[in-house]
Amino acid sequence: LRVELDHVERLSLVGQMAAGITHEIRNPMAVVRGFLQLMREKSAQELDSYYQIVMEELDRANSIINDFLSLAQSRVSDKEKVLLHHIIEEVSPLLWADANLRGQSVELKLSPSLHELELNVREIKQLILNLGRNGMEAMGPKGVLTLETRSTHDKVELIVTDSGVGMSESQREKLFLPFFTTKIQGTGLGLSLCLSIVERHNGKINVESVEGEGTVFTISFPLDKEEPSGVRS
Ligand code: ADP
Ligand code: MG
Repeated sequence: LRVELDHVERLSLVGQMAAGITHEIRNPMAVVRGFLQLMREKSAQELDSYYQIVMEELDRANSIINDFLSLAQSRVSDKEKVLLHHIIEEVSPLLWADANLRGQSVELKLSPSLHELELNVREIKQLILNLGRNGMEAMGPKGVLTLETRSTHDKVELIVTDSGVGMSESQREKLFLPFFTTKIQGTGLGLSLCLSIVERHNGKINVESVEGEGTVFTISFPLDKEEPSGVRS
């Protein structure tokens, strides 16, 4: 999926996002404000549950700001030649920890021979975490999340599969739009961020989903073409 925007479209998108983020940040702020007011009147015992809510709302506002900033980041990003597997191995403990709490599992199916890629390690970690967390959030207990790699002569693929609820056609159309979410605690910025990360790596995202069965996200990264050494006429 590739989205090309002209200058005017980009400006109007920025306007829409500013409106969206203002709304999204004001919600948790209003909740925090309301609870701070209640906290002035309540006993220490009752404060415990308020504390929990206030912290959650602050974390939520914080994650909206973080996602939004990463999304707004410039196209310049520092890449290094690395093996995708190293990055997967670094982030999978985080996914395992999450999966464990949910009674789910994470399986790795890593291709034995994989080419190195020019990657921004921080961004690719974020990509894997966002896709992985979405997968887990779509699944109930006993769900299985699979991270797979595949390589062909001209590309390396990362495939993230979940056995979750899947999505409808109309959901799939809106998937990558900023602030599109079907979750109460969602920011709707995760996949917009994924798309911009993949685009910064000249890659592509493909989504296949069956309602009630699960979803497969396939990210493909092109391999750098070697400059031909011989002179051709
Ligand atoms: P958020 O996770 O905050 O809702 P995202 O941008 O990550 O925002 O995802 C947007 C929406 O796309 C989700 O709310 C959900 O409806 C849908 N979605 C994303 N990933 C999946 C998945 N693996 N299975 C089913 N639905 C998904
Ligand atoms: Mg998400």
